[in-house]
Amino acid sequence: MKMMIWIALMGLGMAASGQQPTLNDAVARADTHPLPVTNIGIFHLARAPEQGILTLGHVPAGTQRLVIDGREVHFAPDGTFAIGFDRDYATTVLISAFQPNGAVVSERLPVRKHAWQISHLPATTRNPVSDADFQARRPAEIAQIVAARANVSDAFGWRQHFIWPAHGRVSDLFGSQRIYGTLPAAPHGGVDVAIPQGTPIVAPAQGIVVLAADHPFTLEGNLLMVDHGMSVNSAFLHMSRILVHKGDVVHQGQLLGYSGMTGRATGPHLHWAMKWMAERVDPMSLTGPMR
Ligand SMILES: [Zn+2]
Repeated sequence: MKMMIWIALMGLGMAASGQQPTLNDAVARADTHPLPVTNIGIFHLARAPEQGILTLGHVPAGTQRLVIDGREVHFAPDGTFAIGFDRDYATTVLISAFQPNGAVVSERLPVRKHAWQISHLPATTRNPVSDADFQARRPAEIAQIVAARANVSDAFGWRQHFIWPAHGRVSDLFGSQRIYGTLPAAPHGGVDVAIPQGTPIVAPAQGIVVLAADHPFTLEGNLLMVDHGMSVNSAFLHMSRILVHKGDVVHQGQLLGYSGMTGRATGPHLHWAMKWMAERVDPMSLTGPMR
């Protein structure tokens, strides 16, 4: 009896390693292994609110509308929702669930402050301000990025365990900030992984391609954006080559393209940025530290 079970498991393992996972496999995985939702507050947040993190929560039974700090937030049929906090989020968050009988279940939770990495540099080392060509091209690029982020899809990657799209030295953390003399530069909006040109970049979670730039953008270079559903999306910058196209469904671990140093980059690396609604969040809050 034991032997039979062992053989059956072996068979599954071989099938899994010898085939490309299908979308249905990924759906099954997401359904049977959702992120553990523990019990922080009425909304069962998986993690306590903290600046820069993205986590999951669960609305009380019967909830019809979910409102987080005045913003309407979607939730899945099983009540699970995503919630993110940008780098400089306020000290509290108000989460409200509207019930069919007119009752409102509300909870105000503290948002833990994060000590971001700050480095002070001489005023003279700041990069020169951009030129006329940049000023001319930039509005159209920003319009494409904004349009990509406005996509609403039924992708389910938002509730998967995210994996690193590439492995290497983390060369710049999310939220770090350089101060040139007394002038603070914009905080770093993603996490940088220093990897050689041509390193494979894989999807950190399931999603739908919402932007695959056909020419290098001024700052981002070859830019790829993936919507993971529930207002969660990823952007991959400076790629040397993008293999997927707008509208493609990508599964976790699928090859998306190769790293590079296109756009404004001083060396080959992957800049991976994530947003939930308007909040920039740290991808490492989903993957954990690099192993
Ligand atoms: Zn970066």
